[in-house]
Amino acid sequence: MTDTSADVLIIGSGIAGASLAWRLGLQGLRVTLLEMEDRVGYHATGRSAAMYEPRFGPPVIRALTVASGPFFLNPPDGFSDAPLSAPRGTLMAGEVGDDALMADALAMGFEPISLAQAQRLLPPLRIQALTCCLYDPETRDLDVDALHQACLRAHKRARGTLVLNAELQSAARRNGMWRVVTKAGEFTSPILVNAAGAWADVAANRCGVKPLGFTPKRRSMAVIDAPEGAQSWPQLFPARDDFYTKPAGGKLLVSPSDADPTEPHDAFADDMRLAEGIEAFQRLMDVDVHRLDSSWGGLRTFARDGNPVVGFDSQTEGFFWLAGQGGYGIQTMPALSQFASALLLKQALPDFISAEALRPNR
Ligand SMILES: Cc1cc2nc3c(=O)[nH]c(=O)nc-3n(C[C@H](O)[C@H](O)[C@H](O)COP(=O)(O)OP(=O)(O)OC[C@H]3O[C@@H](n4cnc5c(N)ncnc54)[C@H](O)[C@@H]3O)c2cc1C
Repeated sequence: MTDTSADVLIIGSGIAGASLAWRLGLQGLRVTLLEMEDRVGYHATGRSAAMYEPRFGPPVIRALTVASGPFFLNPPDGFSDAPLSAPRGTLMAGEVGDDALMADALAMGFEPISLAQAQRLLPPLRIQALTCCLYDPETRDLDVDALHQACLRAHKRARGTLVLNAELQSAARRNGMWRVVTKAGEFTSPILVNAAGAWADVAANRCGVKPLGFTPKRRSMAVIDAPEGAQSWPQLFPARDDFYTKPAGGKLLVSPSDADPTEPHDAFADDMRLAEGIEAFQRLMDVDVHRLDSSWGGLRTFARDGNPVVGFDSQTEGFFWLAGQGGYGIQTMPALSQFASALLLKQALPDFISAEALRPNR
C-alpha cells in the first residue's frame, strides 16, 4: 500500500524532482514523488538535446553548469554504473556580420581555431561561408536516461515513493501540513515542492500559491541520416543561433533553435520551424537531406529573468519552488539539486551561487 504521508512531497518526477528526491533521501528524509503521467521522463527531461555546455547561457547558468561539471566526470560512488557523459566539443561558426556575437563567445571562453582546423573537425563544414571559428572542447554529451534513472533508483533505495498517474489537482495547508489531492488519492506533508516543469505556474495556482510568471518555449528537433564518420563530429553552433546540429545515436540531430512561447502542453515539433532549420543547416553543412527520419518537440520553461527559481515561497509557508531551468536543467542538475537540498533543509549553502540570484518572488 502506498504511504500517503511524507516529510516532503514533490510535484513532478522529471530531472528536477527526481534529483531533489535523491539528495533529500541521502539526508534521511522520506520523500514522495507525485507524477501526473503514467511514466517518468515523458516531458522536457526525456526530450532534451542531452548536452553539457559550460560556455552557453546567462552568467547564473554558466556558474551552475561549471559547478556541475565534476559530477558528470566523477559521479559519487554507487550512483551510476554507466558513464554519465562523453566528450563532444562545440564548434561556433561566425559569418559576415557576426563579429559582436563571436566576441561574446570568445569572452565566455571559446578558443579561436583556424578555418582549416574547423574543417578537419567537421569535414562537411562550408568554410567558404565563414569568417572565423571558435571551439569549446569542454562540451560533453550527457546520458540523460542514466542520470535520471540513477536518481530514481537512489530515491527507491532511500525508501522513497514514486506515484504515477498522480496529477496534483488541489492542495491546502492547515496546521502546518499540506493536504494534497491527486488523481491517485490524498497525500500529506509539511513541505510541498513544485518541480512541475512547464506546469509550475498551473501547479502553484492549484495550491493557492501566486504563480511567478513562467513561460514555456517550444524547441523542435529533427533527426536525419548521418554521413559516414559523423559520430566523431563536434556539435555545430552558428553564432547567429538559427540552428544547431550534433550527432546522436547514429543519426544527426538538427534543431532550428526555436523558442516560441506557448502554454504548457504535450509538445510536438513545428514543421515550418523544422524546414527553416534544415535550410539554415544546409547553408553551413554540405550534407544532403532527403527526408526527416523523425522529429520531436519539447518545452523549455523560463522565469522572467531567465534564471532558475529555487527556494521557499515568500508568501506561502512550506511551499518550495524548483523550476524555470530553461534549456539547462540537465547540465545544471548536480549543482541545482545540491543547492535546493541545502536550502530546503536550512543547511549551509554551497558557495557557487547566491541564494538571491535564484530566490522566488525576486
Ligand atoms: C528540445 C530540448 C532540448 C534541450 N536540451 C538541453 C540540453 O542540451 N542540456 C540541458 O541541460 N537541458 C536541455 N533542455 C532543458 C531540460 O530538458 C529541462 O530544463 C529539464 O528537463 C527540466 O526538468 P524538469 O524536471 O523541471 O521538467 P520535466 O521533465 O518537464 O518534469 C516535470 C514533470 O512534472 C510533471 N507534472 C506537471 N504538472 C503536474 C501535476 N499537476 N501533478 C503531477 N505531476 C505534474 C510532468 O508530467 C513532468 O513529468 C532541453 C529541453 C528541450 C525541450
